[in-house]
Amino acid sequence: MRALTATALAASFFLSPLFRPAQQRGVVLAFRNVDVFDGSRMIRRTSVLVRGGMIRAVGPNVEVPPSAEVIDGEGKTLLPGFFDAHTHLGETQGEQFLKDALDFGVTTELEMWGSRHSLALRKVAGGDTEMADLRLAGIGVTVPKGHPTQMGGSSFPTLSPGDDVQAFVDARIAEGSDYIKIMYEHAFPTVTKQQIEDVVAAAHRRNRLVVIHISNQSDARDAIEAGVDGLAHIFADSLPEQGFAEFAAQHHVFVIATLATLESITFAGAKPWWQDAPHLTPFITPSMRRSLELKFPPGFGAKLKLTNAEAAIGALHRVGVPILAGTDVPAPGTAHGLSVHRELELLVRSGLTPVEALASATFEPARAFGFYDRGRIAEGLRADLVLVNGDPTVDITATRDIVGVWKLGVRHQRPSK
Ligand SMILES: [Zn+2]
Repeated sequence: MRALTATALAASFFLSPLFRPAQQRGVVLAFRNVDVFDGSRMIRRTSVLVRGGMIRAVGPNVEVPPSAEVIDGEGKTLLPGFFDAHTHLGETQGEQFLKDALDFGVTTELEMWGSRHSLALRKVAGGDTEMADLRLAGIGVTVPKGHPTQMGGSSFPTLSPGDDVQAFVDARIAEGSDYIKIMYEHAFPTVTKQQIEDVVAAAHRRNRLVVIHISNQSDARDAIEAGVDGLAHIFADSLPEQGFAEFAAQHHVFVIATLATLESITFAGAKPWWQDAPHLTPFITPSMRRSLELKFPPGFGAKLKLTNAEAAIGALHRVGVPILAGTDVPAPGTAHGLSVHRELELLVRSGLTPVEALASATFEPARAFGFYDRGRIAEGLRADLVLVNGDPTVDITATRDIVGVWKLGVRHQRPSK
């Protein structure tokens, strides 16, 4: 272990749960008579005590100090704040996106390619109780003229043949990347399978995970074979081939589903789902609505079918591949925070039980990405919490009926639009 410098010690103190703004340190909260989804199972009619931004006790006999604000949970379910395991913040609206996310119960976003703007936000988002927390890939790995260089924005470094892969990966880690994202997309020039293997080796040497963009089954197979830790999308070009799911399971990958965006890409109906979600629509801001009303260009994804993606998620899930709820917001037709609720519903449609779908947005991403401070309701974890009416372990759409959102034990005032 490297010795900690005084500066590092000071920094770790300010990032630690011991350091909280005054209004958080004093807050004592108690949820009583509440059903708790703890990240993997339901605990009926119990109590949860929160102090100083952390969960201090869970159980039927929790002692509630007289100073506590007591919240009656009768008929309600308390859940860990949700993850969205595939998002983008862009270069200008990141802060607003993280606020939108929190409005809908998402307390942690995992960005899957970003800019210097998100690298800066990453430093403040953790302790800010008005926006979701953030972990990120930063600048990912692509080749000159590769995806997403066609999308414009600020220029960023790319990996050319013969470049030192370790130096490239180390530069990303030095910039602040929490994990490494590779773009493997044959609609454009793209990395070779050898380069994927080299990036995986370079990242693993530094204890960093590697996630990869793929958009078809054959690329998914290549990427898994090359040793990546996770797929950042499921494919929708074909039904899963015989043995694909078992192959993925043997290689211990996780899969971020992004069904919400695949639905938007393939949507041909008249009325998108969110127009029929009365618990959500009052909280949709004008900028979210613009994103929801955007459409992919005509013909984009013409060969894709949502049912292929759902079948693949179902098959992977049946053989034990961890499925993570992620949306790829703000792709056209999606919006930060809101789209997670649709993702959960589509995961249930793919064959996950509601309990498993809820785990895919809480415990599973925490486990896959190595967060030990969140994703569950248990003593000693961050009090990032969502309280909803009803029982989402029976009807997954109950996640939409949000009573309250807390980050670090501080109630987030959801603005009604
Ligand atoms: Zn993406």
